[in-house]
Amino acid sequence: MLKVLQNLLDLQSVDTRLQDVRTRLSAFPKKIAEVDARVAGAKAEVEKSKAAQVATVKDRKKYELDVEQWKDRVRKYKDQTSQVKTNEAYKALQHEVQMAEDEIAKAEDRLLEQMVSGEEYDRRIKAAEKLLKEVEDVARAERAKIDAEKSVAEKELAEGNTERARAVAQIPEDMMDHYDRIMKKHNNVALAEVRDEKCSACGMRVRPHVFQAMRRAASEEMFHCETCTRILYYVEPAASAAAAAPAPASQPPNQASSASEN
Ligand SMILES: [Zn+2]
Repeated sequence: MLKVLQNLLDLQSVDTRLQDVRTRLSAFPKKIAEVDARVAGAKAEVEKSKAAQVATVKDRKKYELDVEQWKDRVRKYKDQTSQVKTNEAYKALQHEVQMAEDEIAKAEDRLLEQMVSGEEYDRRIKAAEKLLKEVEDVARAERAKIDAEKSVAEKELAEGNTERARAVAQIPEDMMDHYDRIMKKHNNVALAEVRDEKCSACGMRVRPHVFQAMRRAASEEMFHCETCTRILYYVEPAASAAAAAPAPASQPPNQASSASEN
């Protein structure tokens, strides 16, 4: 294989890895936002149940005041009872007392209801706080995991960039321009292996004379797919396993097969 083709394959291999790392890195902000949103949701639930309890306490104070006011009236009516002269006036006062006592009973019922629901709100607050603590514990673990994954990815990105610079240094500038153009046009895959006399990226058949030329060991020419314009390379089947073995950093056959699936 041409030296420049081998260098381009090395570069393609690094670029595929870099692409994967960048995709992983770009997903982290969303993951962190999801974790934060779950914690915020649990906090809001605690605040909501506390606000409901505050409202209940306010209602309770109002009903307590109602009870006191009606009791005052009953006392007042009873004081007046001792001073009335007529039977009608006495009966009328008795009626007022009865009505006021009914109101006291009603206010006391409401008060009791409020106290019961107050206990319910206490329980709800405790449950919401317990849930918040659990959500926060899980979130803490998730953030730590995300941070760890992120620093691994950042390290891989830095290493990949160094490797890429090394690979680029081996390739003539005009060839780099060419490579970059095809990369942009074709979903970050600029090279395609010829398999079964076809471009493995787009499936187009390679002309027989081109295929013959590619197979000649001494060939100095570079070929492109006529359809997708990717740079073509060919590895003799018998040689492919042996050729791939000593250089684990670049694995042209595997890489080309994954590219063709995309
Ligand atoms: Zn093609």
